[in-house]
Amino acid sequence: MKKIAVIGAGTMGNGIAHTFAQFDYDVNLIDISEASLEKGMSTITKNLDRMVSKGSIDEAKKEATLNAITTYTSLEEGAKDTDLVVEAATENENLKLKIFEQLDEICKSEAILATNTSSISITKIATATKRADKVIGMHFMNPVPIMKLVEVIRGYNTSDEVTSTVMSLSEKLNKVPVAANDYPGFVANRILMPMINEAIETLYNGVAGVKEIDTVMKLGMAHPMGPLQLADFIGLDVCLSILNVLYDGFKNPKYAPCPLLVNMVMAGKLGVKSGEGFYDYSASRKAETPSAQFS
Ligand code: NAD
Repeated sequence: MKKIAVIGAGTMGNGIAHTFAQFDYDVNLIDISEASLEKGMSTITKNLDRMVSKGSIDEAKKEATLNAITTYTSLEEGAKDTDLVVEAATENENLKLKIFEQLDEICKSEAILATNTSSISITKIATATKRADKVIGMHFMNPVPIMKLVEVIRGYNTSDEVTSTVMSLSEKLNKVPVAANDYPGFVANRILMPMINEAIETLYNGVAGVKEIDTVMKLGMAHPMGPLQLADFIGLDVCLSILNVLYDGFKNPKYAPCPLLVNMVMAGKLGVKSGEGFYDYSASRKAETPSAQFS
């Protein structure tokens, strides 16, 4: 493994590109939008600057990391001749199927095609290719350069060899890989999303307010962030879409999204990215003030 393509330069893609480049891989960062590529590179530069100021890397390492990343708007130019592709484009099944169909044509036959999807079936994505044995989930956590976990998801047809290659590659990035089978939500979101949904249900039922619910989970369960604030950071639209994947996949009412979550997404209250969710982020992103509708 020498050359890696990362598709999508958004929140996750720029972090994945940063991490591979920092560990001496050549990275082609691909996005359909030139503006996303520019924003992604500027985020990587800012994150590297922060690492330099904390003394965890030096200026030379920062420059080498930036120089290891080349940006492309053409999937064909960016993905050909790479050994591994990590797809981190927008969470949309049809979009991912289209990208994997193209990658199967573009990439060399031995290349591994990984996806960072939070919830879409790896087995389904693999059907867009003629190499289902080489399609795998490589689910990094946000923020990628900091979070240690990589959930490695085996599709129904993913080979043992490809799984162990991706597990050891994750270790080379100084991450801790955990293998999971391909069922809705994998491990991380199967456990996290019902907890977030239950926190929203607790608010919806009037048991306690936003700050109270988050405080119970922070001080009582030693969670670094309460579930409602975490939902704001993940994006309420993303939480809703993952809950719908769990609900549709298991046909079990325990995963039904809380009506309050559905309403907030319809009203455009998506959390940090829209400036308001359970908390109000309009004045400062560090705001801890519950949004007006809950205070
Ligand atoms: P994002 O919206 O921040 O970025 C997506 C990027 O994909 C955008 O820059 C967009 O221009 C680009 N894109 C769209 N179509 C493309 C195409 N055809 N070719 C190339 N680029 C394209 O999204 P994100 O939060 O970075 O999520 C990316 C993936 O990572 C999703 O599958 C998501 O489920 C998963 N994920 C997200 C998080 C998270 O906390 N945000 C955590 C784990 C996994």
